[in-house]
Amino acid sequence: MSARVAALALTARGGALARRIADALGDAEVHGLRGRVPDADRHFADASRHLRALFEEGRPIAGVCAAGILVRALAPALRDKGAEPPVVAVSEDGAFAVPLLGAHRGGGALAQRIAAAVGGRAALTTAGDRRFGVALDDPPEGWTLANPEHHKSFVAALLDGARVRVPPGVAWLEESELPADAAGALAIRVDDTALSGSPDTLVYHPRRLALGVGCERGAPADEILALARACLDGAGLAPEAVAGVFTIDLKADEPGVHALADSLGVPARFYDAAALEAQAGRLRNPSELVFREVGCHGVAEGAGLAAAGPRGALVVEKTKSARATCAIARAPAPLDPARLGRARGELRVVGIGPGDAGTLTPEARAAIEGADHVVGYRRYLELVAGLRHGRGVHAYALGEERARVEKALRLAADGERVALVCSGDPGVYAMAALVMEVLDATTDPALGRIALRVLPGVSALQAAAARAGAPIGHDFCAVSLSDLLTPRAAIEARLAAAAATDFVIGLYNPVSTARRETFARALGILRAHRAPETPVVVARNVGREGERVAIVGLQCLDPARVDMNTVLIVGSSATRTFAHGAATRAYTPRGYEMRTGDHADEGK
Ligand code: SAH
Repeated sequence: MSARVAALALTARGGALARRIADALGDAEVHGLRGRVPDADRHFADASRHLRALFEEGRPIAGVCAAGILVRALAPALRDKGAEPPVVAVSEDGAFAVPLLGAHRGGGALAQRIAAAVGGRAALTTAGDRRFGVALDDPPEGWTLANPEHHKSFVAALLDGARVRVPPGVAWLEESELPADAAGALAIRVDDTALSGSPDTLVYHPRRLALGVGCERGAPADEILALARACLDGAGLAPEAVAGVFTIDLKADEPGVHALADSLGVPARFYDAAALEAQAGRLRNPSELVFREVGCHGVAEGAGLAAAGPRGALVVEKTKSARATCAIARAPAPLDPARLGRARGELRVVGIGPGDAGTLTPEARAAIEGADHVVGYRRYLELVAGLRHGRGVHAYALGEERARVEKALRLAADGERVALVCSGDPGVYAMAALVMEVLDATTDPALGRIALRVLPGVSALQAAAARAGAPIGHDFCAVSLSDLLTPRAAIEARLAAAAATDFVIGLYNPVSTARRETFARALGILRAHRAPETPVVVARNVGREGERVAIVGLQCLDPARVDMNTVLIVGSSATRTFAHGAATRAYTPRGYEMRTGDHADEGK
């Protein structure tokens, strides 16, 4: 179960229990009804709608409320019972945790963890789970049931009194209350070979195979997949028994390696040459050539053996295709790939929008929540403080942009998942350009292998425009008045050109603590080109505490009302204002009133 549990409450008392549950589970957050549950990580107004959204996102839900509320809310969303997340109803006094849905995805186990955390009881209603103390269709992490289609009849036979042959040495089976009997009519088999099972035999695959691969740069994914498949098939091994794909860190950005891992539904993990060379004595096919090229005597065999550990052994030795190699090692017990080697590092340059949770995009939220490290300017980190959860937080002062970028890149190069947080959009007067600049100039190959994405955000200009109406409905440009990185003459020349050509102009960084006179000069330039009554949107702290958005005439604009958290939108000659109820709206028409003929417009 990877998604974070939402512990949901509708009352203050429920909220307190939800908080205890979230704290005990660790990877969880409290969702509370707005106005009722003060201590919540996220608030919602409509419980049914919120529940359905969580369910559809696949988030496990612990609802501290009547079971009926959950049933009614989620009934319209029920579809695929194999894919639904666990949903557990918890009574407000914590006495009962009832798994309602998602039994196949850990619902019973979640109820038991919640019950253990709050001193209540898990009220399990699935017959097999209750009688035998184990959910045979939901084995522990590291195990896969090969024939779920036979689970129902198998449990029915057990409930009818049949006895079962249980293999020795598997703790979760031994700790269950299955009616074990060496002469039983039913059987459980544990195997990493591709057995299919039958109505009276459940087969479990332990994820204990380590698939080691090597390849040339750019080796086609199809070739690597076919080679891995041939190695598994040739040895009769089940793909479900593969715990991970392992290789050398030089291949961390090799698409074919990731395609193989994705096709198996397992992580790709990477070792440095020294860790692989430590396996040299165990290789069946050591190669001097490989050693000269990458610093270890074998990549596929070395990576498989490193992952399988000292008690593991090769089951398929190095096998080659035109541009790739593959080997398979078996460990004595299921492997936890998260602890083996390193992941490919990720850097997400995340725009969080102007500040309010409503304009934070779902992907930006997910990137921050999923990050091992969050890096950013202290104030921006405060804006998303509610999202962070016990990970590395690296707060910097204003002006330390390069240090921020270098820290974020270094962490990512070390295999961490990093979110570099920017306000607004990361590509608008923010960190994305500096990240590109550093990557463009670097000679460090580890930086070249980072998985990089820039996640757009709502820029201050867009947020301010939306508050005011539609002032950037037609051609516009943006000018930053900060002269830290741009000569004043260039700023003023651009401003004059933009003003002369009748662009709507967004002004970022109008003033700073040490700089006010550039704004006064900018006003002079604008006033020279635009009519005195030209509407100007003055938007301060948009989406943040102390938000103030005003629309004033260019002539009346008071520089004292402008601070460093202000963005301005200076209208063009076409920009107008009108009264809409109590509000004043500004907009720049696109020219529909001038349109003649019937041809379709280019944009909507
Ligand atoms: N990347 C940001 C811009 C950073 S430059 C974005 O896309 O919005 C910093 C400037 O942005 C500030 O000086 C101010 O002009 C503007 N700004 C950022 N957040 C703002 C907000 N919430 N309200 C008004 N202006 C803001």
